[in-house]
Amino acid sequence: MHTFSVIPLALLTQPYFRADVPRYIPYATIGLIFTHEMLHAFDLTGIRYDGNGEPKEWFSPESRLRLEARLDCVARQYAATFSKKVSFKGANVDVQVKRSSNVPLTCHPVLSQFDWNVTRNEDMADISGLQIAYRAWSSLQEGDAADLRLPGLNLNTRQLFFLNAAQTYCSHLSPEDYIVLVEMDFHTPFPERVNGIMMNSPSFAEAYNCPIGSPMNPTRKCSTW
Ligand SMILES: [Zn+2]
Repeated sequence: MHTFSVIPLALLTQPYFRADVPRYIPYATIGLIFTHEMLHAFDLTGIRYDGNGEPKEWFSPESRLRLEARLDCVARQYAATFSKKVSFKGANVDVQVKRSSNVPLTCHPVLSQFDWNVTRNEDMADISGLQIAYRAWSSLQEGDAADLRLPGLNLNTRQLFFLNAAQTYCSHLSPEDYIVLVEMDFHTPFPERVNGIMMNSPSFAEAYNCPIGSPMNPTRKCSTW
């Protein structure tokens, strides 16, 4: 089976892409989506297909081992960092959610259990995609050289870059939505997805002055590189 990452042409239209806004907005939103999709070529699925989409692993065994170690960093970090109690039908219950085995969806007082191995490819595309998008925006010699703030927000442009990136994936989920996402989706559900991307970005920690070792600036970060 061929796998493809798809970037719909509609993403090049408003509200994602427009020329009359500060450049941190498209770089942080559509830029992050582009880099995320490109980085799927460097995950455990992507390395099994060549440039024509044909099944052919193009990583050396040594490179594959190194990639697996980096992805393991993400899986371990997310498992150690994120746990979830979901308020469901008026009761605060822990929801057991296991995606790797076909455990039927259950909602009863048991320990919450994510399987971050399922989401690690997507998590890594998020984490490293943000690094590339930020570096691309930072390297601009024009456009955002001026301090283009947004009305009503006391945030500088670097902080606004990350705020926009967060809003790309930000969503309000009902408990039912959350459970379905964890059960069915290969992406980390919100808000953990956003926090996971940001906490692995040294540039985010710098922009928001997060002390080293604080929840959003852990000592050990994960990255493709
Ligand atoms: Zn993806």
